[in-house]
Amino acid sequence: MFAETKSLNEECGVFGIWGDPSASQLTYFGLHSLQHRGQEGAGIVSCDKGKLMVHRNLGLISEVFKNLDDLKRLSGDRAIGHVRYSTSGQNSIENVQPFLYHFYDLDIAICHNGNLVNAKSLRRNLEEDGAIFHSTSDTEVLIHLIRRSQKGTLIDKIKESLNLVKGGFTYVLMTEEKMFGAVDANSLRPLVIGKMPNGAYVMASETCAIDTIGAEFVRNINAGELAIIDVDGLTIEKYTEDTTISIAAMEYIYFARPDSNIAGVNVHTARKTMGKRLAIESPMINADIVIGVPNSSLSAASGFAEESGIPYEMGLIKNQYVGRTFIQPTQELRELGAKMKLSAVKGVVQGKIVVMVDDSIVRGTTSSRIVTLLKEAGAKEVHVRIASPPLMYPSFYGIDISKSAELIAARMTIPQICESIGADSLSFLSQEGLIESIGLKFDMPYSGLCMDSFNGDYPAGLYDYEEDYLNNMTEIQKENLRGG
Ligand code: 5GP
Ligand code: MG
Repeated sequence: MFAETKSLNEECGVFGIWGDPSASQLTYFGLHSLQHRGQEGAGIVSCDKGKLMVHRNLGLISEVFKNLDDLKRLSGDRAIGHVRYSTSGQNSIENVQPFLYHFYDLDIAICHNGNLVNAKSLRRNLEEDGAIFHSTSDTEVLIHLIRRSQKGTLIDKIKESLNLVKGGFTYVLMTEEKMFGAVDANSLRPLVIGKMPNGAYVMASETCAIDTIGAEFVRNINAGELAIIDVDGLTIEKYTEDTTISIAAMEYIYFARPDSNIAGVNVHTARKTMGKRLAIESPMINADIVIGVPNSSLSAASGFAEESGIPYEMGLIKNQYVGRTFIQPTQELRELGAKMKLSAVKGVVQGKIVVMVDDSIVRGTTSSRIVTLLKEAGAKEVHVRIASPPLMYPSFYGIDISKSAELIAARMTIPQICESIGADSLSFLSQEGLIESIGLKFDMPYSGLCMDSFNGDYPAGLYDYEEDYLNNMTEIQKENLRGG
């Protein structure tokens, strides 16, 4: 009954700072370094002498705060902020975060990264119970749950509510008195704590935001933890003991910035190791050059080149002023976006046998476009090497890979994909290769990683999405699940 839509899927960036007179300014800088996590909307809520104030809008953080008076107005020594990535249809101002609520006894602001898998049923129950929602975003669900909780303190209400929402999430919340950071029971999505030289605490989706503003890394917020910051400092509590660490592998492969560390593992280093492993698993002997696809596959391409001994070259140039292709709501616009974004360097690739390393193939649009570009520029052969396994299953925990039918690897075999993108050869990194390259030191069953898109194993369950997902499975997906 729940359509396998992408409407509620979002991958975003969250930020918070407590105890610095330039809180909103620092949030603005922090959000700049999280901008790769979402470019469709942004906002900041600050708190000054018990008063919470908001400014948010559609667009990049620099566009939202084009008028710097809007930033100055957000006074106070504490603030939270958000950059939003959404998919088609849901890109309206009501969905831009942080959300700010004024209740008779409480002011509270919230922002959220990830996707809940039981938001629709929770929301339906809440609506039947009289709740009224302002947005189509599932972020609001948590606030309703908190308000309805019968527990005595706000902390206990939040903890109880966090136990009711399922999926991949991080939340940053702020009231007049406290700031909170919460991570889902699988730590699917990252959230870290830092500290400024003046003692101010910072929370951010990625360590790159902490580094940018000059804060020291303190610790990760781990699976099932709730961080609480107030005048007494930082406390970490667990809201559930029922945790299984499975960090989204896609954070390492594609989403996070290379200078970030997730669970202590640097993202660039992980990607470079994936590239090296790929060169071992799928060697190219007679190629002239290795090239990457700016920006997300450059680390992996450099690893492939280093391991294989084939020279690393700059075969593609990215126009840095065009947004990420996924951002376009329709396939036509995505293709146009992809066209404007990349150019082949003729003088480099002409007459060459090229190894083109990309981080992933989702729909196949990018690879097919790039092979064409390289061949038009005179490349003799183009061998595509992908530094992740085939993306065969949708993701429901907050990464925009949500329809089986859209995934090329759910519809075609590897030789068929190779032909459809026009490559001379194609291979992917193995699942073991990926896990070992990232090298998290966690135990089974998940080795610390969520590999859902590669193996169809959903560590946080599917809830509202299950029926529709099962009904829409492709033959290739089913066969792969049977171990075929
Ligand atoms: P395709 O063109 O095959 O649909 O997408 C593959 C390209 O999208 C790759 O170059 C990769 O860098 C990028 N990509 C992979 N996963 C994601 C994702 O979850 N979100 C966005 N925005 N881009 C992605
Ligand atoms: Mg890419």
